[in-house]
Parts: sequence; C-alpha cells; structure tokens
Amino acid sequence: MTAMASDETGETIEDLIGYAREQGAVGFEVDEVRVCVCKGCGSRVFGLRGDLSQQAVQRDCRDCESVHFIAGSGGRHLQEDSVALMGCDCGSDDFNLAVGFALDKRRDTIRALAVTSRCVGCGRLGYWDDWLVHDSGTALLDMA
Ligand SMILES: [Zn+2]
Ligand SMILES: [Zn+2]
Repeated sequence: MTAMASDETGETIEDLIGYAREQGAVGFEVDEVRVCVCKGCGSRVFGLRGDLSQQAVQRDCRDCESVHFIAGSGGRHLQEDSVALMGCDCGSDDFNLAVGFALDKRRDTIRALAVTSRCVGCGRLGYWDDWLVHDSGTALLDMA
C-alpha cells in the first residue's frame, strides 16, 4: 500500500493520530503513534520527499529546514534522481506527519511501521507507505 490519499480529513493532529491508529501497518494493528516533531525547532509542519519504492522517506522542517529520515529509513539508499517531493491534490506540500508502529506481543520489538500525513492546506489525511521492520528493539519509536 503506497501513497494513498484518503477521503477523510482531519482538523487537528489528534485526528491524524486517530487515522494512523485505524490504518494499521502492513496489516498489523498499530500500538504506538508518534507525531513527527522537529528536533531542531519543535515545528510539526514538514515537506515530505523520498523514494517510496526504496522505503526511504525524508522530512524537511518548514521552519528551520533541518532534514530527517523517518524512522531511520533510507539515507544511504536515497538517490538524488529518484527523490520525489510529495504533494497534496490541493496544491499544498506542507504536512503534519505521524508514524504508526506495530509492536510484537511483548512490546519490545517493532514489527512494522506506517507513515501517515495530514495536509496543512486542506486537512486531507493520507497514507504514504508502510514496511516491515527487521531490526529488533524499539529505538525507532524515538526516530519518527
Ligand atoms: Zn525545525
Ligand atoms: Zn491538501
């Protein structure tokens, strides 16, 4: 499942959190949702770019322009010529972002994650990508 805009809209970040929870991640139930917050300035508005086929998703802070790969994705895989800037149908490319994490039963390992968004322009909620996580542990929870 990739880059799908839903028909749902959300007024607030809380609506986005609820959406991320409902969508699941690679078919698993989402246990934890982390809203993306810029470590540099605290902003929650981002541009989103990446190569979804490589499961590499990068967010660019709209305030301080710092760049972060969501949940440790990509980085070394991301090739400049395959990077696309994601945009909403309304013309905006400013998003609130949230990552849904599916944990295993003991909640000490992440099985899968999903990247979801809320368009700041029109409120539309979207599901960008999800993938299985093969690293053990829960460090990625703090790398949304
Ligand atoms: Zn920032
Ligand atoms: Zn929009």
